[in-house]
Amino acid sequence: MSGNAVIRTENLRKSFGNTAVLNGVNLEIQEGQIVGLLGSNGSGKTTLLKCLLGLLRTDSGIAQLLGEPSWDLTAAAKENLGYVPQEVVLMPWMTVGDTASYTGAFYEHWQPKRVERLLTQGGIDSKKSVGELSVGQRQKLASILAMGHDPRLLILDEPVASLDPVARRQFLQELIDLAQDEQHTVLFSTHITSDVERVASHVAILVDGQVEYFGELDELKDRIKRVRLTLRNSSPESLRCPEAIRSVVDGNHWLLSIDQTRVDIQTLSERYDADVRVEDLNLEEIFIELCGQEAVASVSHEEPEASLT
Ligand code: ADP
Repeated sequence: MSGNAVIRTENLRKSFGNTAVLNGVNLEIQEGQIVGLLGSNGSGKTTLLKCLLGLLRTDSGIAQLLGEPSWDLTAAAKENLGYVPQEVVLMPWMTVGDTASYTGAFYEHWQPKRVERLLTQGGIDSKKSVGELSVGQRQKLASILAMGHDPRLLILDEPVASLDPVARRQFLQELIDLAQDEQHTVLFSTHITSDVERVASHVAILVDGQVEYFGELDELKDRIKRVRLTLRNSSPESLRCPEAIRSVVDGNHWLLSIDQTRVDIQTLSERYDADVRVEDLNLEEIFIELCGQEAVASVSHEEPEASLT
């Protein structure tokens, strides 16, 4: 294990038939990080999580979890792992309380008091049967059960997709609380950029089967900027900036999306004889810059309108 990496992949590849879904994923997540895995629908987030968990066999490359090969995780590693799949299977006829006891029987270090507390906080009645819960409550229950043994690493596949905005915020806050002591690591996939902005310390952006960016959210925002140039003597159509991520003409203005590790913004004024204004971007805008409008069509910054709770 390099450093405190709890998740490590190197050139990870996975295809289904002739369709390459993961095209050489390199990712290293350290202990204590809360990582939002962001990608459009169908970009391979679930596939990556399943490869990491050893639920899918990779074609090639390295996938390691808690220092062990994902495909051969020991019982000790599994004891330190919590996972909530996208589609949760629970027994509808069991009560919430019995479901918790049943799940706890599989773990040596189950913490019934912690589970009880999380259920109360989450407004889930232990005496109710699982079948009586709403979709959102069932998803929440599954997440609480996944935290019941206080895992070092929690992996959640679209954990808040079916919660309403208030419940999502509360649930995400619980995730932060869980990981606050810096010994817990959380990896959650999502297509909602505002959720990543709200809770993640780090973001991994999956594009074309590769991690296009992995790092601190603030660093990404510091790095990628939109620059508005007002040209003094030429028209924007006649100019090129090959290093820009994107270049758009907006009336008399020329808008460039710039990765500051590749282009020094200070030099643009002289280079193009222009007045330069630098604009900050939010995560959704950065995602659009990095991936293109088409790729981002299924990625949402807004809260979903429908509430399923
Ligand atoms: P995401 O979680 O980002 O929405 P997925 O990992 O679920 O994306 O899917 C990525 C691509 O892989 C999709 O095109 C999907 O249809 C395909 N895929 C996923 N699982 C399978 C499978 N078992 N067999 C064939 N294709 C699959």
